[in-house]
Parts: sequence; structure tokens; C-alpha cells
Amino acid sequence: MRIVRTVGEVRGALQGQAGPVGLVPTMGAFHEGHLSLMRAARQACDLVVVSLFVNPSQFNAAEDLARYPRDQNADARAAEEVGADLLFAPDAAELYPEGFDTWVQPGELATVLEGAARPGHFRGVATVCTKLFSIVRPDIAYFGRKDAQQVAVIRRIVADLNLPPRIVALPTVRDADGLALSSRNAFLSPAERVVALALPRALDAGAAAHRSAADPVAAARNVLDVERGLTVDYVDVADLDGPTLVAAVRVGATRLIDNVRL
Ligand code: AMP
Repeated sequence: MRIVRTVGEVRGALQGQAGPVGLVPTMGAFHEGHLSLMRAARQACDLVVVSLFVNPSQFNAAEDLARYPRDQNADARAAEEVGADLLFAPDAAELYPEGFDTWVQPGELATVLEGAARPGHFRGVATVCTKLFSIVRPDIAYFGRKDAQQVAVIRRIVADLNLPPRIVALPTVRDADGLALSSRNAFLSPAERVVALALPRALDAGAAAHRSAADPVAAARNVLDVERGLTVDYVDVADLDGPTLVAAVRVGATRLIDNVRL
């Protein structure tokens, strides 16, 4: 696996590439969720590019970009182990050089749920993904359903801007206790982690309610509302590649999101 830092190096490494190219965009601190995307790319593509970039433009001012977990050496080892060919790890000035002034602004879908809770978030995601699609020109780009609204936003911009990659969305990878893997889980104390388990439990309760024709949002809220040490940002049903029960909660200083297809 080669580690490259510049757009020019990516272009050089991909020159003359005949077979399908797969791209896995990430912000690093790899866990099994990230690795499942890389393995799928490895299976389907001749060349697998993993991008590792903690994208400043998708964090708003109130969020702690500096606090986001980073471990590039461990990430490089993990990506190499699952067979990635190229790790593209640019610094911020490579993707947002002096004078950068063009943004991809997704519409309606980016204004609700995560978009409402994190103003500007999807503008940052859409812009960096469009740039990555333009730099790498992948045939297939891989995303996790863990971030279901992100997948829907990406599908929207790919369709609306006639971008080439096919978008593949893969299931959420969970720990044995049900908590969806997330780089942010590292911030949870052992006690907070126990509290956080109410999130997957609430989504399970919501899905079960839906199966018996009851209200999934009310069922999920019932679980979350009795959990002390957790505050609910939102619980809702949205059409994200099909009806999906989505929730965001805060446990201490850590914000967690999760969802389940109904
Ligand atoms: P991130 O590094 O958090 O931006 O995530 C990079 C990619 O991995 C995104 O497409 C995420 O949706 C995906 N991802 C994150 N957590 C999981 C998970 N637990 N299961 C599957 N995919 C995930």
C-alpha cells in the first residue's frame, strides 16, 4: 500500500488504471465499520483507494475538530492489512488551499435531522466528497448506512450533478452489545458506554413497534426518556433509501447517531 499526500500523487498513481477503482472516504480512527467498506471494495475493485481526511468544513465552530481521534500509523497498518492499494491522507491545505471559494450545497435533505442539528455539516460533506470523486474518479464509492442521511445526501448530489461513481451503502457494524461502532465511542467512559446502549435498544424497540403497527418514534422515545445521563437530539422517521428510524443523542460530551431501517 502506498501512502500519498497530494492530489498530483493520486492522479499519478491512478494513471493508466484499466480496471474498476473503488474509493472509501473516511476520517480515520479505523474500526470494523471502516474495514467492512474496504473489504467490500477489495472484493469488487482492481484498485482500492482509501481517503483519510478529518474534513474541517464538516465540523461547525461549536464542535471540537481538534478533539477528533487521530491515529494515522494504526490506520495505515489496518488499511494495508485489508488490502487497500492507496491511502490518500492529505493535509487541509491540500484540499482547501488559499483562496478556496467553491462549495457544493445540497438542498432540502441537508436541512433536516443532522443538517438541522449541525448547520453546514452536509455542505462540508458534499464538498469534500465531490472533490474526492473528482480527484480519484472512482467507479464505485463505499459508504456506511450508519450515517444513513449522509448516504442519501451523497446519492442526491451524485444524481443531481451527474457524478460518475456508483454509490454502495453497507450495513452498520455493531459491537456485541449492540452499540454501532463509531470513532467517537472512544470518548465514552465505561459508565457512559452503558448509558449509550439505550440508543440501539431504543431503535430495536422502535423497529419492533413498527412491526406490530405501533408508533416507532414513541416506542424509541419511551426507552430513551427513562435513561438518565442521556439527552435526545431527535428521534424521527425519515425516507433515507426507504423508511428509516433515526436518532441522535448526547451522552456527556459525546454525540452519537444511529438508525434502523423499518
Ligand atoms: P467516518 O470516518 O466516521 O467519516 O466514516 C467513514 C465511513 O465509514 C462512512 O461511510 C461511515 O458511514 C462508515 N461507517 C462509520 N461507522 C460505521 C459502522 N459502524 N458500520 C458501517 N459503516 C460505518
